[in-house]
Amino acid sequence: MSGSFDECGGKLGFGLMRLPKLEDGSIDIEQTKEMVDHFMDAGLTYFDTAFVYTGSEEATRKALVERYPRESYTLATKINAWMGCTDAASCKAQFETSLARTGAGYFDYYLLHALQADNYKKYDEYGIWDFAAEMKEKGLTRHVGFSFHATPELLDEILRAHPEVDFVQLQLNYADWENPAVTSRANYEVARRHGKSIVVMEPVKGGALANPPEHVASILREANPEASLASWAIRYVASLEGVEVVLSGMSNLEQMDDNLSYMRDFKPLDEDEAAAIRRVQAVLDSIERVRCTGCRYCAPGCPMGIDIPEYFSALNDLLVFGNVERARRDFRETLEDSAAPDACIGCLQCESACPQQLPITSWLKRVTAELA
Ligand code: SF4
Ligand code: SF4
Repeated sequence: MSGSFDECGGKLGFGLMRLPKLEDGSIDIEQTKEMVDHFMDAGLTYFDTAFVYTGSEEATRKALVERYPRESYTLATKINAWMGCTDAASCKAQFETSLARTGAGYFDYYLLHALQADNYKKYDEYGIWDFAAEMKEKGLTRHVGFSFHATPELLDEILRAHPEVDFVQLQLNYADWENPAVTSRANYEVARRHGKSIVVMEPVKGGALANPPEHVASILREANPEASLASWAIRYVASLEGVEVVLSGMSNLEQMDDNLSYMRDFKPLDEDEAAAIRRVQAVLDSIERVRCTGCRYCAPGCPMGIDIPEYFSALNDLLVFGNVERARRDFRETLEDSAAPDACIGCLQCESACPQQLPITSWLKRVTAELA
């Protein structure tokens, strides 16, 4: 297995993307310090930030780097070739900026950030793979990896082209294990085939699995009335072979303490618990939804500029999790860069391009009816 996570002290990683906020919108450094202290007191040491997480690298310096010896924790940050830069030089300059913001001196883990079908070539164009390897040779980072949000075929292609990477960061959770738009299981299996260590992001699906629909929650409560709903999601992925770290983007002390209560002395799911998760997965898989894989073949040809897969993702959130607030928020965010779903003129270009043969125009009407 490539990549070393021996120094992480345990399987829980502190994701620094959703840190607690003060009323003025700035990061609550005092609460962040307390969270860092609880995390470190539990013997855990893996922290994950990124150049593009606003204020996060600076908060890491104040809450962690200035308060703990450098060798007592491990720090991951990320370089982004499609946000926060315009060319190779400005992209590579992110490394120095991240070093200056965090004051960490070096990074234990350096990731190429959020590779997707429409952006991964930027990392080649800007020479970022070689740049990351150079930083590693210089001792400015100890391990190189990438975070990834696309298909298993693309993951396989990238890992073939870059066998030197030490680890991959994947979006894995029990609800998306067979979801064709996320392909958690298939991506996990590709990473395992390539012998890569795995860091998991979004184990609680952006918070959705801490508050799943009642018919799902009741299965889990019956299996163990004491366990928090989030604990099932985190322990599920932490139990997978090859998973070294599970990132939890904790936003307050209460979430930190809940996470620590079962991850301080982590125990993998036992057979009864794994069976409960399988029942939950069967229930989730049976719910009516748009079986969109997010391949985006439909979108570029739409004469009205409707971002079809983004609207379907918001609708699925509503149909599967019943989360009206989050689905409407995602709908509104999509509207900022896309024509509204009811701008559709029925030309059917999208339906002829869709490999899943989805009745896209009907589903768009449903999006409007449920979310507009
Ligand atoms: S049918 Fe509607 S959504 Fe599909 S390509 Fe035509 S205008 Fe766009
Ligand atoms: S082509 Fe079909 S499956 Fe692909 S994103 Fe569009 S609707 Fe989804």
